[in-house]
Amino acid sequence: MVRGFTEGLGRKEMAEIKACTQCRECLRYCPVQEVTGRIAIAPSEKIRIYRSFIEKTESLRALITGRDLPEQLLGDFTRAVFECTTCGACGEVCPAGIDTQRLWPLLRREMVKRGLGPMGSQAEIPGAIESTGNPYNQPASERYSPWFPEGPEPARRAEIAYYVGCTGAYQAQPMVRGDLMVLRAIGREFTMLEAEEEVCCGFPLYITGQHEPLEALVKRLVQAYRDRGVRELICSCPCCVNMMSKDWPYYYGERLPFRIIHITQYVLRALREGGLKIRGELRERLIYHDPCYLSRGVGVIREPREILQAIPGVELVEFDRWGRLSRCCGAGGAARKVFHENATAIARLSIDEAYEKGAHRLVLSCPACYEKVNEAMRGYHRKIMIVDIMELLSGFVT
Ligand code: SF4
Ligand code: SF4
Repeated sequence: MVRGFTEGLGRKEMAEIKACTQCRECLRYCPVQEVTGRIAIAPSEKIRIYRSFIEKTESLRALITGRDLPEQLLGDFTRAVFECTTCGACGEVCPAGIDTQRLWPLLRREMVKRGLGPMGSQAEIPGAIESTGNPYNQPASERYSPWFPEGPEPARRAEIAYYVGCTGAYQAQPMVRGDLMVLRAIGREFTMLEAEEEVCCGFPLYITGQHEPLEALVKRLVQAYRDRGVRELICSCPCCVNMMSKDWPYYYGERLPFRIIHITQYVLRALREGGLKIRGELRERLIYHDPCYLSRGVGVIREPREILQAIPGVELVEFDRWGRLSRCCGAGGAARKVFHENATAIARLSIDEAYEKGAHRLVLSCPACYEKVNEAMRGYHRKIMIVDIMELLSGFVT
């Protein structure tokens, strides 16, 4: 008999699964639905099917007769829940208030527990992190090279720390290089872990439902920052910020001894306090893309815009969907590892819109967006310059 489908869910998730009215408002905002047209991926459909799993396995009749679920149905559902980018746009517009950005990863975990997930190369993530400290299976000793800018080394101990993150370190190096140049320009002492010491934040494990290694990973990182006297931890990857602020306390077992902050929050504070000065001007039209886990995830929307508008000459234009309603870049939820075509097609929707709005550059603030949108540009007939926000800003500060 199939084990119960409610075992791994809390009261909030159970209430959310019951709350869906099948109104389908969410369908209009789902990027995967937009590029594939597959109804199985629709948020309403995933909830309807999961609800039927609960009914079919936990009703009195099922308990008496031991009713199993068809393998095909389980497989189709698993694919749908892993094809989702976990962007959370559906939850943002859901009249029932379902927090889908948090619900989908937990349903993925349920499918992993049944041996049906994760999908494809996602299964290699735990082994890669265990042996190299990062999901890309790249050498730990090369985490900070060759992108680390020449200049003063970080302090051994400081109240401020900067966490690079795996995607930035291995896949979006101009971005993290820009982070360091801006942090140095601010001039406040900060620390970093050694290359071999700074391991993955755990987000790829969390988002693919492979939660077993998380406790050890989180405790190791929190202790390392605690040992350096850190009170504020800065990251530029929105997924790291989410993982650290929302999930680290659970795996650590108590409140974190430091605050988590996105680099745009830290930089805007420095600009306002006069700790960072901008020199020169940029007479360009820029369009800024809100990363799902930054805008919907932790509500950082205003800060990147204020930073860009602080550069004299900049004209900032917006996507039709921006802020909490922004469209995913296609890279989210580790879905890009398996569903490459969806990810590329979604990224090209943003390229098209940025191009049509006459932007000189598309500004990003997430390493996964940076990597995916750059990749989607290859072989595409439309071209637009892509830049990370700190990569751009680093050219205007000293
Ligand atoms: S989280 Fe995003 S990709 Fe997933 S179902 Fe919702 S809108 Fe679609
Ligand atoms: S918008 Fe919310 S209530 Fe309506 S179908 Fe989608 S998930 Fe269900």
